Amino acid sequence: MSRKKLVDASNDGLLADSALIAHGRGEAFDYLLGEKTSTVAMQAIEEVVALLLKAKNPVLSLNGNTTALAGAELIACAAVLQCPIELNIYYRTPERMEVLFKFLNSIRGCAKELLPEALHSQVDDVPILGMSPDDSIPNLEGPRAACHSDGILSADVILVPLEDGDRCEALMAMEKSICVIDLNPLSRTAQMATVTIVDELTRCAPLILNSLIKNNSEINEEWDNMDNLQKSLNIMLRNLNEHD
Ligand code: ATP
Repeated sequence: MSRKKLVDASNDGLLADSALIAHGRGEAFDYLLGEKTSTVAMQAIEEVVALLLKAKNPVLSLNGNTTALAGAELIACAAVLQCPIELNIYYRTPERMEVLFKFLNSIRGCAKELLPEALHSQVDDVPILGMSPDDSIPNLEGPRAACHSDGILSADVILVPLEDGDRCEALMAMEKSICVIDLNPLSRTAQMATVTIVDELTRCAPLILNSLIKNNSEINEEWDNMDNLQKSLNIMLRNLNEHD
């Protein structure tokens, strides 16, 4: 289903050419992970949810793959948090931005179906930023640095699934809490982020949403991201050894 969604999204102009390669890289790591959410990933999910709930200005930053695969779940998360979504893509073209913006607006109804009725009006209120950036992420060159001063730039906690290493590094240098979802525990993004959820995006997005709705996650002040990454890597290594 994920592959079909991405192929359709690619045909509809939502994705850059390299998007399917990035997805394939994720699939390879998911095989190693056993294609299920580990207890280690659950701990990272709870830490991310706690950080988002406690944030003053949380923002969810979406690229093409994230929008195509889990757009509705992430709009629903933004509705619970009453925070903006910002489209922030690596290969920015006005055409792709326009298509992504329209797509996200067209699935607000799907986001409502994921939420209790009391929260439906909050879905309509989620701002979708990215179309008219008025600032840029420092130390990052080119169009991918473009951002909104009332979005990414002023956020204290950003959930940015499937980020690339350079941008993660630039965002971390701004002393924000950066939460990522990345199946590769060895990627630069995974290694640099404040909290890394090593899990597949479409599997963990509903878990993040449910936990946000429950609203009882506590921040673990002792969070050790490298330790959590090592534990995910150990699961992959164990799975590999069992196939010897
Ligand atoms: P980095 O720049 O962080 O060192 P990279 O060049 O591999 O790594 P990108 O190509 O920007 O990074 O992003 C792809 C990353 O996203 C890969 O690490 C891949 O494992 C991961 N990924 C791809 N699809 C998914 C998915 N559906 N769920 C979770 N992670 C995914």
